[in-house]
This record gives sequence, structure tokens and C-alpha cells, in this order.
Amino acid sequence: MSHPHPELTAPPTLPKGGLRVIPLGGLGEVGRNMTVFEYDGRLLVVDCGVLFPEDHHPGVDLILPDFAAIRDRLDAIEALVLTHGHEDHIGATPYLLRERGDIPLVGSRLTLALLESKFREHRLKNTVHHVVAAGDVISFGPFELEFVAVNHSIPDALAVAIRTGAGLVLHTGDFKMDQLPLDGRITDLNAFARLGEEGVDLFLTDSTNAEVPGFTTHEKDITPSLDRAFYNSSQRVIVACFASHVHRVQQVLDAAVKHGRKVAWVGRSMVRNMGIARELGYLTVPPGLIVDAKELGKLPPHQQVLISTGSQGEPLSALSRIAQRSHSFVHLEENDTVILASSLIPGNENAVYRVINGLSRLGANVVHKGNAMVHVSGHASAGELLYCYNIVKPRNVLPVHGEVRHMRANGDLARATGVPHDRVLLAEDGVVVDLVDGVASISGKVECGYVFVDGSTVGGISESSLKDRRILGEEGFVSVIVVVDTVTGKVLSGPEIHARGFAEEASKFDKVRGPLLAAVEQAMADGTTDTYQLQQTMRRVLGRWVGNQLRRRPMIVPVVVEA
Ligand SMILES: [Zn+2]
Ligand SMILES: [Zn+2]
Repeated sequence: MSHPHPELTAPPTLPKGGLRVIPLGGLGEVGRNMTVFEYDGRLLVVDCGVLFPEDHHPGVDLILPDFAAIRDRLDAIEALVLTHGHEDHIGATPYLLRERGDIPLVGSRLTLALLESKFREHRLKNTVHHVVAAGDVISFGPFELEFVAVNHSIPDALAVAIRTGAGLVLHTGDFKMDQLPLDGRITDLNAFARLGEEGVDLFLTDSTNAEVPGFTTHEKDITPSLDRAFYNSSQRVIVACFASHVHRVQQVLDAAVKHGRKVAWVGRSMVRNMGIARELGYLTVPPGLIVDAKELGKLPPHQQVLISTGSQGEPLSALSRIAQRSHSFVHLEENDTVILASSLIPGNENAVYRVINGLSRLGANVVHKGNAMVHVSGHASAGELLYCYNIVKPRNVLPVHGEVRHMRANGDLARATGVPHDRVLLAEDGVVVDLVDGVASISGKVECGYVFVDGSTVGGISESSLKDRRILGEEGFVSVIVVVDTVTGKVLSGPEIHARGFAEEASKFDKVRGPLLAAVEQAMADGTTDTYQLQQTMRRVLGRWVGNQLRRRPMIVPVVVEA
């Protein structure tokens, strides 16, 4: 397998007739998926999603793919294909459209409807939509696209086959191979086989569950656990799940009907998405089942079900507010049942357990994937991936959608089915893969950083300011101010020291004032008159002292003022 090398430089000019693949997100992380295909000077983009920040991104709202590599070629984009409606695939689209608003958007009916609702929030108008369905073939410039039904944790997901003069590419998007899905729409292995017969030159495939042996459990198999949780509850039931998991919500609605309960949506995205899913016929709702959340509260508790957002412990979500007793109208009672019918995305563990503890403290019975089978994954496990490799028989493989360990495991599966060692490419974000004469290889690297959305600014905050925030959060802050006369070489005032975030008394810092004063006067005596250099002197002395005495590495802000 080829590995991404840090010494890679900008790729050479793409040979005529070659196809270039530029991953701008999603290779090396689960989130912000975005892949650019280049052929004959024209571009096709597949997916444009967001990544949700973790604890080491304090204050950041969202992380976007880095558009830098294509920013001066936005006019060359023929279309943006959205494989399905999950945030990690569509969430960054409004930010790309802010840069060029008329990029044609291609996706299934549900995917584009979910996207459309975002445009209103971003005040984007006159966007160009092409609704496609499984089996459709449609061309944009030199790219002929064919769509294939795949089964995932959201309805209406599509894989996309891309034909150009360079050959046939198959991108699975996110998928699994549930053979008994709720809507009967299975991953179309017939189409995969047909494309395989035609000859798939490059296969981009979902790595998320490549480390998980065997087959992903059927979605239907969680029905008994849901049923049991409802049966055991004599009070209210609150179910938290992803606001896009239409089939999971359908199962909860079915359980509610069976147990004689009414249902209300809680959380803005749940209300919005379920409205769309219902309107488009993806969700079957018997008349009278759904009531307004405030109306629901008037019913006896054993007739109530709330379906809520916040299954990942997001601090501002409905479930977190319920757990903190700060929700405006949902007040948890002793023996209410809370079901977290969702996965636990890596990085969210602490937040989720905090919510579970909060709910438990209030007396709720919490049912989650750790104590009942109330969730199955939306991604193919190793067994399913092996099937795919054997059916598609790809010539070259590029594992996508995963952390490095997932992509590596996926690459191992490809090799196990006979894909030659050097035809399995392990690339991370920014690593460029060229398909030339049927052979795919790594040809270089483009700029590809994290772009942070912080409040209303996009890309304004850098990794170094985040580092500052982390230091502030973990190590505290010390400032030191002196007023100097560089002519006489004397300190006229100070050092004045202020510290924040320290357990020690302020007087503790008195001990370092003498050494600071001496160091600054010595530096001036040695001929240093530049205030920046004097500040660096103070930073060194103070930093060393705090490190030795207090075992801390705070942010140090030295200020030298010339009198
Ligand atoms: Zn997905
Ligand atoms: Zn995804």
C-alpha cells in the first residue's frame, strides 16, 4: 500500500486523458467529506460536509473542508454531487455556495430537500438543483454520472459512478448492506456487479466500519429492544436520536402506536427534518399521532413520547437542557424513560456520559447502546466490504471516509480479495491521486488545513489562536508589565504581575519580581533598547520561574512600555 508522505510537493500538470482526485476532507477524520475530481481542466465535487469540533477546539462551532485548492477555479466546477443528507456530507455546502452561488447541486429528493432548508438559514437564493434517483444517468461537462441506490442510516442515499475518458470511478458514499431495511431499498449489488463487469478503474469506498468484523446488524433487529423499553415504562418515554435518521424515528412512531402513546418532536432540527420527511413520504405518520409538545404535556405521562435531538451530548441540544433541568417546557420526572437510540461518535463520549449521568440523577431510567440494542450502525462492516470488493473487482482502490486506522483496515480488506498491493492507495486530506492509463498513484499534495467557523467568522480563527485558547483553558494566564527608560536603562515602574486561573495566592508571584527587574535592567545595560526583545527577556524569565516553581506552562503576556 502506498502511504502519504510528508515530503510530497504540489502535483505536476495532469497528463492529458488522466483523472485527478483531490480529497479536501474526510480522509483522516470522520466528517467534512469532500472530494474533487478533475478531468480535462473541469472539476466535479462529491459531497461538501462539516466536521463537528472536539474538546481541543474550544469555542469552534464547525470545521469545514479547505476550499483553498480550488478557490481560484470555482468556475471550472461542473456540479456538486451530494451522496446523502448527513451533515458530514452536505453541511458545508452553503459555505461553498457563498463563494459561487450557481454551482449545480445534484442529489436525491430527500438529500436536496434537507439541503434546501439550510439555504434559507444562510439566505442563499436561486440555487440550481438537479434531483436524481437510482438508475439515472446524467452528464455535466466531461463527467457522465450514474447513480446507484445504497442503504445507509438515512433514506435515499446514492453511490455515484463517474465515467470520463480516464475510465470508470465508483464512489460508494456512506453505505451498508442491510438485507432487510425498513423501506425495502437495499444497496443495489446488481448495479455494483454490472459496473464491475464494465471495469471499475478506481473504487472509493466507505472505511468507517472496516475494523468491525462480520456484518452490520439489521436495522429491524432493534425493534424488540425498543418494544421492551416501551413495555417496561409506566411513565413518559423520551427518545433521542439523529434528526436525520428517518427509519429510526419510524420505529419509535410504530412503538408509540403499539403502546397507545402520542408523540411530540423536540429540538429545531428534529421538527424541521421530520416535517420534510413526512411531506415527501419518507415517514409514515398515522393521523393524530403527532401533537404539539406543549399539548403532549397535558396527557397522562404513560401516553407521552418525546422524540428529541441531542443524542451526542451537544451542550445546547434539547436533551442536554432536559438533563440540566433548563429546558423551557420539558421537565423530567422520576422514572421517566430516556432512550438514546444512536451511535456514540468518537470524541463525544464524555459529553454523552455527562448527559446520561444528569438524566440518571433526576431519576430517569436511561436505555442506551451500552445496556440495550437500541442502535445499529449505518456503515458496512468488514464482511460487507469484502463482498463489495469481490463483486466490483476494482483495479485500484482508494479507501475514504474514516480515520487513518479505518482506511488502513479497509485497504487490508481490498488486498485480501486480491487487489494488488500497490493499487491500494492510502491517502489523507490534500493528498492527490492521479488515474492515468488505468493506474492510480499518488502524485503530490495540495494545501488542506482545517477551516474553523467561529460565531459569524469563517476561517478567521487559526490553529495558533486555538492553541492559545487551549493554553488559556488548561494552564491559565500571567501578564507582566514594566515601564522602562531605555536612555537611563532603568525600570521606572513594575514589574506588575497579574495571574488568572492559578490556585496560588497572588503574593506567590512577588518572588519573581526581583529576577524580572534584574533581567530587564541587565538587558538594557547590555545595549537592548528594543521593547519586543525586552518583552521576550521577561517571557523567558517568568516562563522558567513558573515552570520550575509551579509546574505550569501558562500563556505569558509580557508588556514593556517606554516612558
Ligand atoms: Zn452518512
Ligand atoms: Zn458520512
